[in-house]
This record gives sequence, structure tokens and C-alpha cells, in this order.
Amino acid sequence: MRRTFVPLLSVEQVARLSERAKEVVEYRKSGLSLNHVMGCPLDCAYCIRHVYGAWDMRQPRALMTDAEAVELLVNHRYFQPDVTPLQIFNRATDPFLPKVKDHLFAVLEDLDERGLRNHVLVITRYRVDAEDCVRLNALGNLRVTLLFTYSGIDDQRIEPFPKEVAEKSLRLAAQLAGRYRAVLYWRPLVPGLNDSPEHLIRAVELSRVAHATVFTGLFYRDEIAAYYRANGLPEPYGETARRKIVPETLEKRVLEAFRTGNGGPLFRKTSCAVSFVHGEPDYNGHYGIRELCDICPTQQLDRCAVAHRVPSAEELREIAARLPEGEDFQVVEVSERAAVVAGLEEQPRYFLQHSLGFQIHDVRHPHRHRRHGRADIGWPDTGSSSVESPHE
Ligand code: SF4
Repeated sequence: MRRTFVPLLSVEQVARLSERAKEVVEYRKSGLSLNHVMGCPLDCAYCIRHVYGAWDMRQPRALMTDAEAVELLVNHRYFQPDVTPLQIFNRATDPFLPKVKDHLFAVLEDLDERGLRNHVLVITRYRVDAEDCVRLNALGNLRVTLLFTYSGIDDQRIEPFPKEVAEKSLRLAAQLAGRYRAVLYWRPLVPGLNDSPEHLIRAVELSRVAHATVFTGLFYRDEIAAYYRANGLPEPYGETARRKIVPETLEKRVLEAFRTGNGGPLFRKTSCAVSFVHGEPDYNGHYGIRELCDICPTQQLDRCAVAHRVPSAEELREIAARLPEGEDFQVVEVSERAAVVAGLEEQPRYFLQHSLGFQIHDVRHPHRHRRHGRADIGWPDTGSSSVESPHE
């Protein structure tokens, strides 16, 4: 019998989900993401579930058993043992919700028993208790990082679930951490909503208990903006964007607050923080984007400098050729900063990026100097930089 902790959806119910929601394994920038449980009652207005057509799923449901999901993951064409960073339940539910947590541990323990050493990112804002920490510490192979989403947002229309829960969970998890690590995931930062001096001071204080802190902005996509408008919520921006939004002045204020307040190690990128807390160079190879590293601890800079290796065009072509999607692949330019490529969609590009530990950019989506792969909103228009100069 197919047994699951949360109710299992029937074949007909699964068939009615959106195509994206049905894609149980999906490559995202921070890792290959497993999402065979969907549904969340926490109701954050900015939830990415809007984008998957799954906003109405308020109760967690399973699309398949954990054993089936793990098989799907480890046999996926993008999965590489010990190399591919993984994420469990990061787009459609909270992994520590009651019963969802049982699925989380079943997956973690299955992967760990296979002797896999992959990074695993687990993002939560829910309750993590001492028993959970003991179970996480017992994993002998996986490199697990808990990322505690904390925004400090007080407006309950935007974030009804109390922020104090994530704060308490982070404090406990950091205190009891053995093999796993605990990161303060300070997001989404939105000007005027959660960036007052008091908000910044609270986050800086919290950062001192975490092994590292990542700060980032809001994914303000069309579907999320439509939800804000339909519900009369104050719109944070006048336009939507493909990437996360972190205006320049906000970034400056965050860095200043950490500097003067003596905050813990701070990162702009999730993979940088995750790699740092496990004593490894950034698995996304951001080191080539030199201006990203100006806030990084010296010992981590050294690790990334030693690991930084620019691949040849031939090497890139050879790895892309392993994928069925690699037929139209082209290398446009390779510099110290990044490889700019064409003919490869987002997910297989991450396969390349994680295989090489080097930035792989799509020629159609230029990265602008100092914007760190974020949206243009809130930054001066410095003109085109469709391919970043290696000499910048
Ligand atoms: S040195 Fe740069 S790439 Fe490496 S972790 Fe620090 S910020 Fe990231």
C-alpha cells in the first residue's frame, strides 16, 4: 500500500494540477528542488505558490510517496551524487509543518542512508524543536543547512504567521547544531515595510546567533502583484520583475547596519552562506563576480579564490552534451567572471553551473554590474551591459 503522512492525492487530482506544480523535481539556482508535498496554511501574501497556480492549496497533500520521490530525485538527469545541491519542500509548503515534517525526515534519512554527501537546504519559518535538532544531527553524510525565513514584517495582512516563531526556532537550532548549520534567511526585505532602523537592529541582533545571514528582496511577479491588488494590499513596487528586488539604498543601509551593529557573517547569495557555514567555496561560483565578495569573511574569500577556475569553452560544450537539452548549446563568451551561453534553458544551465562551480549566464538575461543578478528596480540606469566586461 502507498503510505503517506499527509493525504495522498489521487491520480485524477494530480492530473488537475498546473504543469509547473506537477513538476516534482525542479532545478532552481540554489539546488535541485524536491516538492512532492504541496499546500501550506501560513498564507504569506508574497508566497511563490501563486506562481505555481497552487495558492488555493492550503492543506498539505502528497503527490506520491517519499520512496517514490527519492527515486525520482536520485535518478533525475540533473542529479549528481555528492555534487548537486538539493532543496526539500521549498516552494509549496513549509517542511516543518506537522506531518510534512515526517516526510522531510523520511527523505533526509533515505538520502543519508545512501551515503550521499550532497548539500541539502531546508527553508522554514515554522517551529523546530529539540527533537528535530537531534534527528538532524544524526545524519552522518548529507550536509544540511536550515534556513530560517525571517522578515520582521509586522503587517499581518502580508504575513499572518507570527515572526517570533522563526526567531525562536533559529535560536534553538543554532544552539543545538552539531553537523547541520543554521542560517538567518532575512527576507523579503521591502522598502517602507520592514526596513526601519528598528527592523534593521533586530535583524542584526538575530544574526549574531546564526552561523550566517543572507539578506534578499521580494520576488514580485505578476501573479503575486495581482493577488496584492485583488486584496487591497499595499503594493510594494509599481512594476513586477523576473528577479528579486533589492534597491540600492536598501542594500547600503543593510550593510551599514551590520557594520555598525557588529552583525554576524553576512551574504548576498544563499549559496555563499550555505557554502560558508560548511567551510567550503561557493558552489555557485560567484567569486568571479568580484563586487559580490566585498562583504565576505577573509577565510571564505581565500577558499573561493583557491577554488576559482575558469572552464574552457570545450569543457562547457562537453558537459552540455551530456544533456538531451544540449543540442542547440552555444558558448558566447567565457571570462573570469562568468560564461555567457545561448541555447540552454534555466534548469540545464544550473546543471552546468553546479557541475563546474562557475557562473553560467544566459545571453538573453544580462547581469548588470553591482546588481548581483537582481532586478533593475531601485538602481540607476547605467546603460547596457549585456555581457559583463571581464575587466570591470
Ligand atoms: S568569496 Fe565571494 S563567492 Fe565566495 S562565498 Fe564569499 S561572497 Fe560568495
